[in-house]
Amino acid sequence: MTDLPAHASPKLEPQAAPSDRPEDQSDNVSSTSGTATGGQTPALPESLLSPAFTPPATPGGTLNLDTNPTKRLHQTQAASLRHLEDPPKKAPKLLPELPHVECIVRARIPTTTGAEMFLHLYHNDLDNKEHLAIVFGNTIRSRSLDRARPGETEMDRMIRGAYVGKLHPGRVSSRFDDEKPSPSETQKKVEPPLVRIHSECYTGETAWSARCDCGEQLDEAARLMSFPVEDLSADAPLEAQSLKSDSAGGVIVYLRQEGRGIGLGEKLKAYNLQDLGSDTVEANLLLRHPADARSYGLATAILVDLGCGADMNPDGIRLLTNNPDKVRAIEGPNREVMVKERVPMIPLAWRTHGERGIKSSEIEGYLQTKISKMGHMIQ
Ligand SMILES: [Zn+2]
Repeated sequence: MTDLPAHASPKLEPQAAPSDRPEDQSDNVSSTSGTATGGQTPALPESLLSPAFTPPATPGGTLNLDTNPTKRLHQTQAASLRHLEDPPKKAPKLLPELPHVECIVRARIPTTTGAEMFLHLYHNDLDNKEHLAIVFGNTIRSRSLDRARPGETEMDRMIRGAYVGKLHPGRVSSRFDDEKPSPSETQKKVEPPLVRIHSECYTGETAWSARCDCGEQLDEAARLMSFPVEDLSADAPLEAQSLKSDSAGGVIVYLRQEGRGIGLGEKLKAYNLQDLGSDTVEANLLLRHPADARSYGLATAILVDLGCGADMNPDGIRLLTNNPDKVRAIEGPNREVMVKERVPMIPLAWRTHGERGIKSSEIEGYLQTKISKMGHMIQ
């Protein structure tokens, strides 16, 4: 196994975790590389380990050398069952420091609901995916986008979206909008911004899947952040009625981590396992993936870049989530972001007693597994 194919992950030498991180010593993830089989396992570099990485007995943690597929499946199942009996680990594993992110371009997007948002595209030093921030309101700006770059022209700045106010034909300055700013631009920032961290879900958002509620959650988050003030009390769900007209806007950080981080292909395999009787957590474990391979360091870094971090926003943010573990994960290793309040998202079908929202036998099982195995608080 020393001749790993070129595309394999880099092999790391077995070594003890750094002594300044004593909490890692007992962690299965870092100790894996020290086991007998660990030396042959292309382990993940520590910097890539997710705060939400599910320890212990992650089926993908060690390479199983037994080539008998039936025996291997049984071993994997046994490992998975052992894992399921373990109490969930409460403290999420956090990256030691935030990754570096840079907003490359920002553009105004009028949406089909009539609201406007600014789509921000990010590059980072952790992976080569294009993560996004969907920003509602005019008060939230990216510092890395606005930063002056050597040799740039005003046109360069406007093309990448580093302008104030609105673009219009003939505009020459990125810094001064010669047309009157709209009232919303001058309004004072009072309410902490509403934030949603959303992981890409091709099936749920694009291919009309009713196996999960990702599409509905994305729509709902956008709706809450773009609600016109005057309509808010009349039509808004209970949990959103505290949103004020002087809301500082909202951010949906859209992370490209499909299928809880395992990728679309593996997610589709997991769906087949679900049709064979596994729930969403068991299916991931049978495929030797962690139940949840997502990480949130990038989201924290993006929020800091958008001025929602503790350094520029001492009032904190309001986080739209049902997952209490996500709150700590988003706050970052050194509390770079402060979550002032957790705002729950009740599935539309539950809120409207089945009149609206997703109707499928799969979605109920999916939501129940989120509650019973992943610690989500939906009620
Ligand atoms: Zn989904």
